[in-house]
Amino acid sequence: MSYPEKFVYRFGKTVTDGNKKLKSLLGGKGANLAEMSTIGIPVPPGFTITTEACKSTIDNQMNWPETLLEQVEEGIKNLEKEMDLTFGDPEKPLLISVRSGAAVSMPGMMDTILNLGLNDEVAEAIIKKTNNERFAYDSYRRFIDMFGDVVMGVSHELFEEAIESMKEEVGVSKDIELSADHLKELTDRYKAIYRKETGHMFPAEPMEQLKFAINAVFNSWNSTRAKKYRQISKIHGLIGTAVNVQAMVFGNMGETSGTGVCFTRNPATGESKLYGEYLINAQGEDVVAGIRTPKAIAELENRNPDIYDELLSYTRKLEAHYKNMQDIEFTIQDGDLFILQTRNGKRTGTAAVKIAVDMVNEGIITRKEAIKNLVEPGHIEQLLHPQFKESSFSDKEIIGKGIPASPGAAVGKVVFDSQKAEDAEGPVILVRIETSPEDVGGMSSSEGILTSRGGMTSHAAVVARGWGKPCVAGCGDIVINYKNQSFTNGEVTVKEGDWISLDGNNGKVILGKKELMEPDFGKEYETLMQWVDEVEEMKVRANAETPEDAQVARNYGALGIGLARTEHMFFKPGRINYMRKMIIANSEKERVAALENLLPFQKQDFVEIFEVMEGLPVTVRLLDPPLHEFLPQEESEIKKVARELDVSPDMLQKKVDQLKEFNPMLGHRGCRLGITYPEITEMQTRAIIEAAIELSKQGQKVLPEIMIPLVGSVEEFRNQREVVDRIANEIMTEADISVEYKVGTMIEIPRAAILADQIAEDADFFSFGTNDLTQLTYGFSRDDAVKFLPSYIETGILKQDPFQVLDEEGVGQFVQAGTRLGRMTNPDLKVGICGEHGGDPDSINFAYLTGLNYVSCSPFRVPVAHLASAQALLKLKTDEEAPEALETFEA
Ligand code: ADP
Ligand code: MG
Ligand code: MG
Repeated sequence: MSYPEKFVYRFGKTVTDGNKKLKSLLGGKGANLAEMSTIGIPVPPGFTITTEACKSTIDNQMNWPETLLEQVEEGIKNLEKEMDLTFGDPEKPLLISVRSGAAVSMPGMMDTILNLGLNDEVAEAIIKKTNNERFAYDSYRRFIDMFGDVVMGVSHELFEEAIESMKEEVGVSKDIELSADHLKELTDRYKAIYRKETGHMFPAEPMEQLKFAINAVFNSWNSTRAKKYRQISKIHGLIGTAVNVQAMVFGNMGETSGTGVCFTRNPATGESKLYGEYLINAQGEDVVAGIRTPKAIAELENRNPDIYDELLSYTRKLEAHYKNMQDIEFTIQDGDLFILQTRNGKRTGTAAVKIAVDMVNEGIITRKEAIKNLVEPGHIEQLLHPQFKESSFSDKEIIGKGIPASPGAAVGKVVFDSQKAEDAEGPVILVRIETSPEDVGGMSSSEGILTSRGGMTSHAAVVARGWGKPCVAGCGDIVINYKNQSFTNGEVTVKEGDWISLDGNNGKVILGKKELMEPDFGKEYETLMQWVDEVEEMKVRANAETPEDAQVARNYGALGIGLARTEHMFFKPGRINYMRKMIIANSEKERVAALENLLPFQKQDFVEIFEVMEGLPVTVRLLDPPLHEFLPQEESEIKKVARELDVSPDMLQKKVDQLKEFNPMLGHRGCRLGITYPEITEMQTRAIIEAAIELSKQGQKVLPEIMIPLVGSVEEFRNQREVVDRIANEIMTEADISVEYKVGTMIEIPRAAILADQIAEDADFFSFGTNDLTQLTYGFSRDDAVKFLPSYIETGILKQDPFQVLDEEGVGQFVQAGTRLGRMTNPDLKVGICGEHGGDPDSINFAYLTGLNYVSCSPFRVPVAHLASAQALLKLKTDEEAPEALETFEA
């Protein structure tokens, strides 16, 4: 692979080469530092080394591309000029930070080093210049810690232990209570730790420090935890991390300095108010690391209203500029405010919907922008998650209250260890004092996360929100004891394996396993979904076969039923035995008699579903599964059923044996059943048409669509269509009334897709049964693929499970071909998709691009599908804004 010559992009007040659109090249952090520099936000100057430089270095055994060193040196020279400081200078030294940052934010996954450029001489120079010895050594010891940890792999714990024992010796509890002398002594101890662990002196030469640091950031791209995070978060296709080299500003210079993080709006509720935390006299990660408990941003307003107002004005400017809620890092250096980072803030589903609607009402964005950029399908999904029934527990059972860091309800057994969470069977709640990037595996395997320390911006909170997982953070009511594998609130002790319930909506920790109920959506949701309705072209239907499910689907906005599986109706008690009688019948006469018993049930089912779906189409699929699925398999069961059916067990056993198939999925099923036993198709047609007539007579509008499954040739389809039309006409003539109905087919066999032009001549509609189509295209048995799919995904042979996300490259071609060929001979052909993929946002996008009329998915996914359908259209129709849209989905 060859790369362009430019590896370094500057940002600052005087020159800026990059902008927010260059995320894949400069990483999110770098692109936004550049963007902020050009719109008048005070950002310390610096430069960004591109992701291409990272990739090239990793690909070449850590050898930098030829001109990189030159360009970095040039970058430092420019920075020195702009700051009027010099790297390593004994009078006016320049200190820098070296920060990682990929195109997609991965909180805390990769590394950052602050205060680089320090050595003994420079420390002295800083003391002379600032007259602040404490500050100089506080910065120095932090630098040795970060450099040791990030570059040389010296455990951060060792430095932590040193500072802890220092505090003990001195008799103080907080790091800010250590004096200049203590910190100077601590710096020496840190150097000794460094030397002991690495066998080298701490490197004093700034340029050498810098080269090491850049390599360490490059390397952190492929650290185990970073790779794991990308795998869990399904982040694909990035080439590496960028490296940002930036002039330091200091929040640890004393009482008039500080550092903090804030969201332009509340990320949990969406409330339109600056939300965040800060610490006085602190640096960098202190706020998120839970070293001291940070103060709420509202306190800054009291303490220093001028700075607060300034911060507020920048946050408003950034929000309006990015047209999105921002997550911002800032530092105050001796009364001067600097912004160090901005990105689109992660938020809960509730917050996403409220922020989107509010920002439209405030005139910051349009309705279309709100739909396209501010709400993700996952947000809507989160809203549909259940909540706790308030009545299901008493106040006494609440054993603690923490920060509601990520909403939703979770129940599980307590584990204190991430590995255990990963290994556990059944639902678990991960309980930690704090989480760190090492914990992501365990966090992802847990139902919810509880921490005793840290705030809204702690690692646990940020990661959990990103994944839509409930999290209660900073629950100071509980004390965790890892040794005993328990936690206590002073009265109650909870041990590993005990059940607890977590309410991420209000921060409650509840003893035991509590009951859940359906959520409340809030009024902004209604508004947003109305806007979605207004733009969407491709319709959303639901897969449902009971009146209850159909009602849920209609409440969620389904515009019809795309798949009613009739076999599900036969499994109900009271009918299954008639079904069995039909199956074991020895003659057509017996079979017809059994079917006659089924008819009233089946008809009643349709009456109820058609009623719920009044005025909307209902696609009914004729009997599909192999018949053995209806018969008992165990000997004792066979005996019992034989008694119920009043036949001999031997005879039933013989029938069961006869129906056994080597490959039931490829066996006697789908339209093959209706072809060999036309009386089944006849009965089902009768039930559908009679139900339709009954409701029609009452003045209701019913639109039945009869769907023939598993068709592979036009002859099969014609055979079944003839039966359906004949029976339908008979009944309608008899009743002297005609109802409108359609007859179409599932396209789920590759052969049908490529001969779709023939089939469409006789069919009124197609519905792609993408589950079977995937199975038959790949030759993967749906039921056996679990044995190898996980390792396919791990080794990268497959990116995703094709049964969850439609394989556009392969299976998608059949969908495209089937649609195109079908419409060639039948321009009015209605085409949809049913099966798992109908509810998956990527697959929905594909369905839209293919020109389908509708997607059909499970009732609970209908709102998600509506949003995805509208987004597919908006993405296509507003192409020039595509980079903007990408940016949002990443944040
Ligand atoms: P992350 O991606 O993990 O947030 P960052 O690169 O943003 O890592 O840096 C970690 C912390 O250090 C942040 O709090 C950031 O604000 C702070 N920081 C980074 N660079 C500077 C700098 N030049 N001056 C002051 N603080 C900085
Ligand atoms: Mg940051
Ligand atoms: Mg099928």
